[in-house]
Amino acid sequence: MSMVKTPDQISMMREAGRVVAHALAAVKDHADVGISLKELDELAASVISDAGARPAFLNYHPRWAAVPFPGVICASVNDAVVHGIPDGYVLRDGDLLSVDCGAFLEGWCGDAAVSFIVGTADPVDQALIDATDAALARGIEAARVGNKMGDLAYAIGGEAKRAGYGLLADHGGHGIGRTMHAEPPVPNMGRPGRGIKLEEGLVIAIEPMLILGGKDDYYHDDDEWTLRSASGNKAAHSEHTVAITADGPMILTLP
Ligand code: MG
Ligand code: MG
Repeated sequence: MSMVKTPDQISMMREAGRVVAHALAAVKDHADVGISLKELDELAASVISDAGARPAFLNYHPRWAAVPFPGVICASVNDAVVHGIPDGYVLRDGDLLSVDCGAFLEGWCGDAAVSFIVGTADPVDQALIDATDAALARGIEAARVGNKMGDLAYAIGGEAKRAGYGLLADHGGHGIGRTMHAEPPVPNMGRPGRGIKLEEGLVIAIEPMLILGGKDDYYHDDDEWTLRSASGNKAAHSEHTVAITADGPMILTLP
C-alpha cells in the first residue's frame, strides 16, 4: 500500500488530528495536583467519543507487547518516558507529566503528545520540556519535499543532543494513516542526506523523547508497558502528526 495520501485523505486525517488535539487540551487543562491519571483517561475517552471517534490506544496489542494497552491515553510521570498506564496514581506538585493520545475518525488516525508540569515547575524540568518542543519544531520544519528522512532525524536529534539531553534509545516516530503505526520509521537520530526521500503526501508522526542527564537507555516497568529512564531522570515527550505537502509541513494535530 502506498504511503502517500491524497489531499482529501489528508483533510480527513486533519479531522482525526483535531479530535486528538481537543482531548489533549482537555487533559492538560484538568491535570492538577490531586487528580488521578485514571480521571484524565476518562476525560480523554469522553472527548473522543463525543466527537464520534474511537481511541487508538485502548486495547492496542502490538506483537512486542505482553498485554494489550489498558488506557485511552499514555500518561507518563517523571522518569516514565513513554507508554505509562493511566492508573490510580494521583498527581503531585511538580510532577512532569507526558500525555500521548491517538484516535481514529472515519478510519483515519491522529497521534500526538504533550508534556507539562503539574503545579510548581522546577526550571530544569521546564527547560527539558522546552527542548523537547524545540526538537519537535525542528523536525516539523524539516518535513519538506526535497529533504530526506535523515535530514529530518538529524534536525530532531541534533537539537536535543546539542542541548545535552538523552534521546530514548530504540524509539522514534512513524508513518500514520489507516493504522497508527505504519511505514516509514521516523528516527530521532540520523545523518543528513541519508534515508528515504520525503515525498508530497507522506504523513508521519514526529515524536522526540528527551531525558535529563544525557543518557539514552531505559527499562520496562513491571506493568509491561511503561518505559522508564535507566538513570531515573525525568523525561519529556512531544508529538504531532504532520503531512508533507507542496506548501510545506502541515500539522494535523492542532485544535
Ligand atoms: Mg503518540
Ligand atoms: Mg506516535
